[in-house]
Amino acid sequence: MQHYCTEYLWRISFGTVEQRYFLLMKPDCMINRGKGTDKGMRQTWKLLTGAACLVFLAFPVLQVEAAAIKAFVSISPQRYFVQKIGGDLVDVSVLVPAGASPHNFEPKPRQMAELSKSAVYFAVGIDFEKFWLKRIAAANPKMHVVYTDDGIARIPMIDHDHEETSRRPQPQELKAEVPAKDNHGGVSPDPHVWLSPALVKIQSGHILDALVAIDPVHRSTYGSNYVSFMREIDELDAELKALFAGRKGEQFMVFHPSWGYFAEAYGLVQVPVEIEGKEPKPAQLRNLIRHARERHIKVVFVQPQFSAKSAELLSREIGGQIVYADPLAENWPGNLREVARKFGAAAR
Ligand code: ZN
Repeated sequence: MQHYCTEYLWRISFGTVEQRYFLLMKPDCMINRGKGTDKGMRQTWKLLTGAACLVFLAFPVLQVEAAAIKAFVSISPQRYFVQKIGGDLVDVSVLVPAGASPHNFEPKPRQMAELSKSAVYFAVGIDFEKFWLKRIAAANPKMHVVYTDDGIARIPMIDHDHEETSRRPQPQELKAEVPAKDNHGGVSPDPHVWLSPALVKIQSGHILDALVAIDPVHRSTYGSNYVSFMREIDELDAELKALFAGRKGEQFMVFHPSWGYFAEAYGLVQVPVEIEGKEPKPAQLRNLIRHARERHIKVVFVQPQFSAKSAELLSREIGGQIVYADPLAENWPGNLREVARKFGAAAR
């Protein structure tokens, strides 16, 4: 206690020379001062010493908080990734609040002000970044912008009318890619790269590189945090592979097609209800109902950020139910386990 106390007292830079001299005295000197006086006086010295130690022990905590790197991410699961690697050294804010869709999000003026104080932005390649990231970066030229989806091969968002399966595109198809529409429908590239453990490992590599570049002093902390996070991801991946072993090609129906990379990773097929980012038209809905009946599909998955209206209608028609699967939950591994369990129960 005394050792810590004197060590941190050295860091104090306020007060007059006399005050500092008093503060820098070892607590035991202060107790000695009280010697020879009556018992009550000695007690008072002890109390004062204890209080001084408590006050100054709080200083290093405040100092660490002040030094944390201010970081922004687009969506909640990314906060989990950055915190896993950065720990207490990074203070992470999420731009898209819970309940909002990241496809057509617009930052509030208050958030733009916060962003101007941020040291780093971790992008994930979601629609709103295409327009807003340029503005955000222009308002804060010193901020590092890290594209964590760099090096990830995108699969196209394919709706049920176009394709029966979410397969990888041929190279000539990728060249003919059309620009993303609002809510990405048709053949625009799928942005939901944070829902596949293998792809999160790629994103984490970019997060690690950026933190080491910004704060090389803590390189070994970031490195060991990264290694344990990779181990956590491997365990999750092995668990999910075991869960879906022997079920290749089974289908699950979902309103907004967020789970393409997840489906691909575990051999499942995602059947979207939404077509080109819109509610299905009556004829398309009839096709979906017929398809679900043929495959004995009884569950339509929905997410909290989108209306469940057509999914409800569809589930009624097939005598099934709607079930929530949130692609944006912050507890990333817990949520993937929970969603996997639900897909496992519903896939046919
Ligand atoms: Zn989406």
